[in-house]
Amino acid sequence: RPDAPKLTHFVSRCLIKDFEQRPTTTILIHDPFIIHGSKCIHRVREELRAEIRYQREVSGRVQKHPDVTTKHGKLKSKRKNPPTTIYVDDLAALDSLSEERIVNQLKKRYQMNFIYTYIGDILLAINPFTPLPLYTSAEQKKYCNQMRAAYPPHIFAIADSAYQFMLHEKANQSIVISGESGAGKTESGNLLLKQLVYLGKAPNRNLEQRILQMNPIMEAFGNARTGINNNSSRFGKFLELSMTKSGQLTGARVSVYLLEQSRVIQQANRESNFHAFYYIYDGLEHDKRLKEFHLDRELRQMHSYLPSDRQDNKTKQNNIDKFAQLKNAFEQVGFKDEEVNSIYCILAAILHLGDIEFGEIITDNNTDNKSTVIDLTPIHRTSCLLDIESSDLLECLSVNSVVTRGEIIQRNNSVSEAVATRDAIARALYSRLFDWLVNSINSLLSFYNTREEYNVIGILDIFGFENFTYNSFEQLCINIANEQLQYFFNQHVFALEQAEYESEGVPVQHVGFCDNRPVLDMLVSRPMGLLALLDEESRFPRATDRSLVEKFHCNIKCNYYVRPKSNALQFEVKHFAGNVTYQASGMLEKNRHLLAIEAIQVLRKSNNKTVRALFQSPVTKTGNLYSQDSSTGLVGLASQSRGQQTAATYFRHSLAELLHRMGCNNSGVSLPRFVRCIKPNDQRQPKQFDPLKVVAQLRCSGVMETIRIRRNGYSHRLLFKDFISRYAILGFRLYEKVPPTRDNCKHLLVKLKLDGWAIGKTKVFLKYYHIEHLTKLHEKQ
Ligand code: ATP
Ligand code: MG
Repeated sequence: RPDAPKLTHFVSRCLIKDFEQRPTTTILIHDPFIIHGSKCIHRVREELRAEIRYQREVSGRVQKHPDVTTKHGKLKSKRKNPPTTIYVDDLAALDSLSEERIVNQLKKRYQMNFIYTYIGDILLAINPFTPLPLYTSAEQKKYCNQMRAAYPPHIFAIADSAYQFMLHEKANQSIVISGESGAGKTESGNLLLKQLVYLGKAPNRNLEQRILQMNPIMEAFGNARTGINNNSSRFGKFLELSMTKSGQLTGARVSVYLLEQSRVIQQANRESNFHAFYYIYDGLEHDKRLKEFHLDRELRQMHSYLPSDRQDNKTKQNNIDKFAQLKNAFEQVGFKDEEVNSIYCILAAILHLGDIEFGEIITDNNTDNKSTVIDLTPIHRTSCLLDIESSDLLECLSVNSVVTRGEIIQRNNSVSEAVATRDAIARALYSRLFDWLVNSINSLLSFYNTREEYNVIGILDIFGFENFTYNSFEQLCINIANEQLQYFFNQHVFALEQAEYESEGVPVQHVGFCDNRPVLDMLVSRPMGLLALLDEESRFPRATDRSLVEKFHCNIKCNYYVRPKSNALQFEVKHFAGNVTYQASGMLEKNRHLLAIEAIQVLRKSNNKTVRALFQSPVTKTGNLYSQDSSTGLVGLASQSRGQQTAATYFRHSLAELLHRMGCNNSGVSLPRFVRCIKPNDQRQPKQFDPLKVVAQLRCSGVMETIRIRRNGYSHRLLFKDFISRYAILGFRLYEKVPPTRDNCKHLLVKLKLDGWAIGKTKVFLKYYHIEHLTKLHEKQ
């Protein structure tokens, strides 16, 4: 506290004692109530000045003393020494704001391993790229039922505050984690899960362990090595934990979005397939692998779907360990041995399927460009592993049926058609397997105690904004999801909040922000939004990529859409996070996501229960609320039947539904919390902080504006009646009847000696630290 008597003493010690040992002294201000932030800085600066003056005059030690740099300028001394600077836990407490200053604060904190920083109630997390001792059980214990300001910023504190809020308000909570690829979203999500499970101590420890074990399964099947991140999530995930009203964990449910299916069959240069393929190759017992799954290590590089992984011993050992973890996770979550074996069979079958090659049969008149399978071995292996007839598989790869004037006509597949069918089967097998896994996990861990009322804390870890050299349908969907989330963020942090201040007559300085509504409308509105146009074109059998692009060019009249100068099959979208050029080729096909009916029929006839289940439509219902779209990898609205839907429509619905579940329907039921992950450098090096890179991320996620509004604004807004019913006990007598009037609220706030609040026409406006303070007082009652 600025008026703490020991401050002078402390500052003097900093200068004399520490400075003799070190060339630089840093004073980190940990300010529990924020209100003192700038006062503290001011006071420390004054003390430093006075101390220097004193030492100059009295002890003649001036030569040894440093210059003092504060945010208010530099103090002159005769020697030029490294500066002493002051840093705060919450950027919203800074008295003056500039990008430079914020980045400087973050940089210094990062270099001292303070990777977390608050901006009001938002947490910034800068990836340390090295394990830090921040997540031990002692730390977990520390961030338990605490006032946020009691300890330095931490991801566990976010879990704790969401948990406490849920308990006190009896309301659902969601935590949105965002950031670019490799910024640390998944790690943060896992840490949140760890702490929430810890806080929600389930009566049986078994449940706790089972919930934690769902992650190794999801990551083995949904993550892969990319050029940017060795463990990149190739799907979006919304994990919900259910808790009783008294805060006990009762179950978990996960929803997945947009699995990057194309990775199964094709990977960019130096990228890998999903981890699970490598795990089984290195982890399965030698004999079993060879005899049951026909996976020969010598021939591993030959699988066309499996780009060679690093073959060094370290990678191999890692894969072996991960396989053991996966096996254990399957067991703990509750999968049966027979199911686990079927999962391995399906993975191996996909690899063999990719090895089926086709050649062209040249006929006499050469009008029928028929294809033939060059080597039958992979066909036999695939069929054996999927427990289907090889002749059936061969046939569905070689012929396709078209319905012409009510008649079914069979046509031979050309080589490229056969290849496309083969790849479509592989994609469908993998994505349906992924969905089946999700569904099974959900039914195994689903919210128990359904009779007891419960609240839910959700954690959203969704892929960041993507802009590659080649951007296709997948990037379009991913970027639309990000655009939507940014809009949601803006709505919560800026628009709704400011509208409320105005309507309540609370004077708060207006903060301008970059509203991405127009670009979002251009993408998802109907009937003329980009996705709607894509759907419309997908319905025309004769549509081509050219006709699609023409349709976009003619119908989208918006500054956020840019036609290419050339005739190229592409278009550019000006997203909130940057301009992205999308290639139209293949978009229609990906949107239609057709899998030949013959292939579905063959797979439905499999003797393997799990394989059959994947191709039942819809995928095995598991008693939870959601049905699945197995071919797009989306889990969403139960009312949507997947049969007639394009990938785009399904994507739109599930995104809308996700936002609804996170409380973005403005009902105010569940206030989302935000964790913004920041990647400090592209080399994935610890201690390296690239200010330009960080600034770019802060800018495009609206952090600067957030700091401004968080400083000026109030994170909690309570109706008079809620405020009185909750807190009257702190200032009035127990049985006193206190009408919920403005005056009574004001009276109570004054009586409790709080300052910095505001009062509107119907609501009390409080900062988060007021709530913490009130909660503590409440608990003492
Ligand atoms: P993507 O969008 O590609 O899935 P991501 O944002 O989920 O990326 P992560 O996989 O969570 O990124 O993090 C990338 C890597 O950064 C991790 O594998 C880990 O090595 C490191 N990392 C992230 N957060 C931390 C942390 N808190 N402590 C130590 N290392 C971390
Ligand atoms: Mg991730």
